Amino acid sequence: MTNTYPEKKNLYRLPYSMNDNPIGWIEATDICNIKCKGCYRLVMGEGHKPVQQIKDEILFLKKWRNCDNISLAGGEPILHPDIKEIVSFIVGLKMKVVILTNGLALNDKILKEMKEVGLLGFSFHIDITQTRPEFKKKKLHSELELNDMRLGYAKMLKKYNFYSHFGITVTPENLHEVPELIRWAKDNILLINGISLIIYRGLPVMPGVRYFAKGEEVEMEIGKLGYTVSQEEYEKINVRAQDVYAVIKKHFPDYEAMGYLGGTADHTSFKWLWGSLFVNTKGKTFGALGRKTLELAQAVYHFTHGTYLVYPNKRIGKTVFLMSIFDPLVRKAFWKFIKYCLINPLRFFYPMKSLGIGMVQAPDLLENGKIDMCDDCPDMCVFEGKLVNSCRLDECRIFGDLLTIQVEDEIAKKKRESLQESEMI
Ligand code: SF4
Repeated sequence: MTNTYPEKKNLYRLPYSMNDNPIGWIEATDICNIKCKGCYRLVMGEGHKPVQQIKDEILFLKKWRNCDNISLAGGEPILHPDIKEIVSFIVGLKMKVVILTNGLALNDKILKEMKEVGLLGFSFHIDITQTRPEFKKKKLHSELELNDMRLGYAKMLKKYNFYSHFGITVTPENLHEVPELIRWAKDNILLINGISLIIYRGLPVMPGVRYFAKGEEVEMEIGKLGYTVSQEEYEKINVRAQDVYAVIKKHFPDYEAMGYLGGTADHTSFKWLWGSLFVNTKGKTFGALGRKTLELAQAVYHFTHGTYLVYPNKRIGKTVFLMSIFDPLVRKAFWKFIKYCLINPLRFFYPMKSLGIGMVQAPDLLENGKIDMCDDCPDMCVFEGKLVNSCRLDECRIFGDLLTIQVEDEIAKKKRESLQESEMI
């Protein structure tokens, strides 16, 4: 890990808030056809949510969040028997819809139906920690071994011109593979809109860490929540968004982050860190969008549509160079592009697109027992008439409320030391 960290002053703090946030999150079902390490959702026998309840939650999110998009998640939302009706309902309310899926149940018939009802696209979660039937035949050692599978899904989507996005869990073990994953996305720029690097997190089950719900102490076990882990595992969790950023910058100096969301309890954290890299179909990178472009895009979109923007349904091409007037980063990319074309003018005609590259660093337990969440969390869902961070929904499902935590001094000290060590690497 290096010290090439982003500076908040160079980034646009996304304008999202509790009541004006472009994303609303729907948990359509708790049924899933596989298991993933670190999954926030437990299968608790609730099954598919009744379609009327889902519609009520969508209306609630539209009313209280002013959503531009609804993310349909679960469990595996494709398994919900009324998925077509749900998507159609959301589109009818003039919001976009993205389905978060592991892709296993996806087929041409479903894609065709989803296109007919106006779905924007899919965000796939595919990684080697999953219990996919295909993985039984062969032990996997690297995330890169799954790129062909990811590409297969991207090609399926291309046929219907869906938005295509991939989420990959980042751990200390696979951090070194991030550059190759980006290279893969870059080399398939016409098929892939973006990548989210979701940094693995957990809460420890260990002496000295006590959990409370509604003022009463509760017994915690490893796996009681999808993210309650052993002390040994917890002590290994030290990758942060800025570390992932540093690895990307080292291999793709043209990349730059443009927007962020900080933490609710730690002013130094980057909970969402988002950037966009210009790439042409020859795999050549030119630069990145800067904070000015993002700020202008959000302001104009809010002015014209009444909501903030997420998941743009048109891909940005060379027209983005018009933003050179306002945005120094785009200007830099423009001059690089001009020099590239002067060597061979035919290069001007190679298609160019932006590749979204983001990092999400889920909740962190701090030394004082506070949990550092994404400030103005975009992925909030509805639980019993209230907005809840979807990553912590299971605390509400099991204990009726979000947990509070007490951490003894000795544990806090150890965590501090482990973070300091990671900074020195
Ligand atoms: S706080 Fe919100 S955005 Fe952040 S990980 Fe949790 S659900 Fe996702």
